Amino acid sequence: MAGRAYEGSCHCGAISYVYRTAVPVSQWQVRACQCSFCRTHAALTTSDAAGSVEFRFDRPDDLHLYRFALKTADFVLCRNCGTYLAARITTPKGSYAVVNLRALSRLPPELPAAQGVTYDAESPEDRVARRESHWTPVLGVAAGPA
Ligand SMILES: [Zn+2]
Repeated sequence: MAGRAYEGSCHCGAISYVYRTAVPVSQWQVRACQCSFCRTHAALTTSDAAGSVEFRFDRPDDLHLYRFALKTADFVLCRNCGTYLAARITTPKGSYAVVNLRALSRLPPELPAAQGVTYDAESPEDRVARRESHWTPVLGVAAGPA
């Protein structure tokens, strides 16, 4: 897989991700989702449909998958330290994720400003279709324990 690797980790190190993309950081699309969950975490997410995400579960028991509202995605959290690492969806086409850039050890200085986004008006079908076409493919079957 071409591109650079960016490693994010929860605070205690139980769960981490490697996000690979060929897109330079200065051109990343950074989203600040305005849903109640993302606001409480000050989440900054990004994705690249041509990139990849790989999760690592050093302590799988600390993985917590949280679902709310339409329950169309799993929010990947560490049960031990509470870090929100990523959101993940699995469809017949595959598994896709957005990573929370707050889990990087530091935010790259050239990171563009986040755009506030709301998806409240989407139907569940539209939401799945958007994620399949815009989110980053996840490497590894089922991306760890569910
Ligand atoms: Zn943790």
